[in-house]
Amino acid sequence: MTFAQRTDHLRPEGAYQVLARAQELAAGGKDIIHLEIGEPDFTTPQNVSSAGIEAIQAGKTRYNPPSGIPKLREAIADYAGRLRGIKVNPRQVVVGPGAKPILFFPTLALVNPGDEVIYPDPGFPTYEAMVGIAGGIPRPVPLREENQFSFDLKAFDGLISKKTRLIILNSPSNPTGGVMPRADLEHIAQVAIERDCWVLADEIYTQLVYDGLSAPSIAALPGMAGRTIILDGFSKTYAMTGWRLGYGIMPEALADRVGLLLTPSVGCTAHFTQIAGVEALNGPQDFVAMMVGQYQRRRDLMFDGLNRLPGVHCQKPQGAFYMFPNITGTGRSSAEVANLFLEHGVAVLPGPAFGSHGEGYLRLVFANSMENISRALERMEQALKA
Ligand code: PMP
Repeated sequence: MTFAQRTDHLRPEGAYQVLARAQELAAGGKDIIHLEIGEPDFTTPQNVSSAGIEAIQAGKTRYNPPSGIPKLREAIADYAGRLRGIKVNPRQVVVGPGAKPILFFPTLALVNPGDEVIYPDPGFPTYEAMVGIAGGIPRPVPLREENQFSFDLKAFDGLISKKTRLIILNSPSNPTGGVMPRADLEHIAQVAIERDCWVLADEIYTQLVYDGLSAPSIAALPGMAGRTIILDGFSKTYAMTGWRLGYGIMPEALADRVGLLLTPSVGCTAHFTQIAGVEALNGPQDFVAMMVGQYQRRRDLMFDGLNRLPGVHCQKPQGAFYMFPNITGTGRSSAEVANLFLEHGVAVLPGPAFGSHGEGYLRLVFANSMENISRALERMEQALKA
């Protein structure tokens, strides 16, 4: 069978492949600790779930506007604007079923075949997939451990060309947990303005930051509001991955164009899900603080444990819930160590699942219990000493 070329580059995401293998082993009786799938282990806060259930019972189960219900767009404009110190008009807000559509549709609206798109490597695999679907030319920028996995700015400068249309940033980062410093964002903003490029700032982990830090937004820098798409959502901050609710903030004309793409594709986002989203933003925020506190304790446990493993060293992530240890000292490849750990009952992802610059690393998720993290560390130590 032949398919349209625009789909030829698509592959299953590494996390789902490892999950499938881990499930096979589990079916054979093996106990597996899952550190491969990037999602919160908390359940959605009760007030948010109740708002969704009550909305279903009240009949909020019909079509609604493609870009989202006005009440949610207003709540997002207020909340997301305050968080970043910028003024956002509700007409700039687009709601979608998850944050992935906020990557998909603005890219389709902006990138012509042959345009170049810069994105982080290692990075969230959806970026490369999406650039290919739009017919764009992928231009991955290496992230380096030496500078806390921010962009290699020299490489970035070398990749910018007349054809660069879009620059994708992700801070805090999946898979490294790195937060881009303001000085790096200022450099990228200056280049984007000089070269008249768009920036898509994937800030889905912006509230999952540790040690009292905050992650600066490039959208708040002078001259950037008119060329930046902020991507954010409810999946990580409110433990709502399966509800499918995300949003983008972008200049009004682009928001209108993205709305026109949502109409013939997804139609709209479920009404009751959006009502749960209004409650998430307008209701009490102590759940987020509690979750971040717990993640920080788990991060510290995993960080100390990984750095004690033979041949392994690790940067302390400042955000998200990912650890990206360097395993080159084991003398084995990322895939070999990931397989070895899986045989010993710990599922992790090899770094190259996130791009070629991920070789020599693994990605581990610390959104898991302290007990499971401790057990996983013991198993990984046994695996490397065996
Ligand atoms: N961006 C990044 C960096 C992510 O890690 C994820 C989720 N894995 C998303 C976007 C997509 O979020 P959602 O599930 O809301 O579509």
